Amino acid sequence: MQTLEKVPRVRLINLPTPLEALPRLTKKLSGPRLWIKRDDKTGLAFGGNKARKLEYLMGDAKHKDADFIITTGSPQSNHARMTVAAANKLGMDTLLVLKGKKPRENQGNLLLDRILGADIKFADVKTYDDVHKIMAELAVEYARKGHKPYTIPVGGANYIGTFGYLNAIYEIVAQAKQLGIKTDYIVHSTSTGATQAGLVLGAKILDPNLKILGIGEGSDTVEIRQDAIKLANEAAKKLDIDISVGTKDIIIYDDRKYAGEGYGIPSKECIEAIKLLARAEGILLDPVYTSKAMVGLLDLIEKGKFAKDQNVVFLHTGGAPALFAFRKELEAQL
Ligand SMILES: *Cc1c(COP(=O)(O)O)cnc(C)c1O
Repeated sequence: MQTLEKVPRVRLINLPTPLEALPRLTKKLSGPRLWIKRDDKTGLAFGGNKARKLEYLMGDAKHKDADFIITTGSPQSNHARMTVAAANKLGMDTLLVLKGKKPRENQGNLLLDRILGADIKFADVKTYDDVHKIMAELAVEYARKGHKPYTIPVGGANYIGTFGYLNAIYEIVAQAKQLGIKTDYIVHSTSTGATQAGLVLGAKILDPNLKILGIGEGSDTVEIRQDAIKLANEAAKKLDIDISVGTKDIIIYDDRKYAGEGYGIPSKECIEAIKLLARAEGILLDPVYTSKAMVGLLDLIEKGKFAKDQNVVFLHTGGAPALFAFRKELEAQL
């Protein structure tokens, strides 16, 4: 922790986020005791998990005297939306290079990006590696025009962003102690692997009995696991922490039943999970990430993965603004 405290960071968000009980859902499912870590309430234009990464990423940007942020994501990227909000708060400009075709409508996160005033380009290319190359070229161009650009990869997924969820483990462990509970599992949606990398590294340092379960969102989980291992080990190395994260530390459930047809495609089960949490606890999940993670959690409970006296924390990573971009799918199942 000593060294993590020395890493450049800007305070942008409301921490600690609440760790709340889910009493009605717990009763309904008659499985383990369920809790929710409300990282949908971090602040930064509707909040979400990217906010924690951005405290470190923007800290690094400031440390390097940057005044112009370039990042990427899908047109419904929560990371892109929160990055623009963070940059605005620090008086920096933002260019979003969003992957894909320009959507016909400005809806959900894209609408918020526009309100927040980002410059937006669309790159209709195959992979994020392709987008990252375009971003690097644009950074050179903007530097020539006198800006000091700082580029952030998709999802804020590098070792700096990984510090965000390493730090979050300290917060969760302290809160659990205050509540007088032992946290047995954290279940969360995993996509770039950076959130999982931080959580797993943190658990290894602080509480080796705490298990982190990632649930895939429809992307290739072999790649996510490799990336998470790399990010966790890079972050550990930068902090001189003598811990190594390997394949068996990164647990990802990539059941088709949870992830549905693929990334960004909500299944019927996801929409049911959104309705379930909304109606039992008044909390809104998102259609791309957290609802799939909830489908996974519900199935693992049903399969008897957890004992009744265990505490399972569902990490709410945010994303609810995208609900509005999936109006038709949701409406069809109300
Ligand atoms: C980005 C995102 C995730 C995945 O986080 P990673 O660190 O990329 O694995 C999960 N949930 C929501 C809502 C997100 O926006």
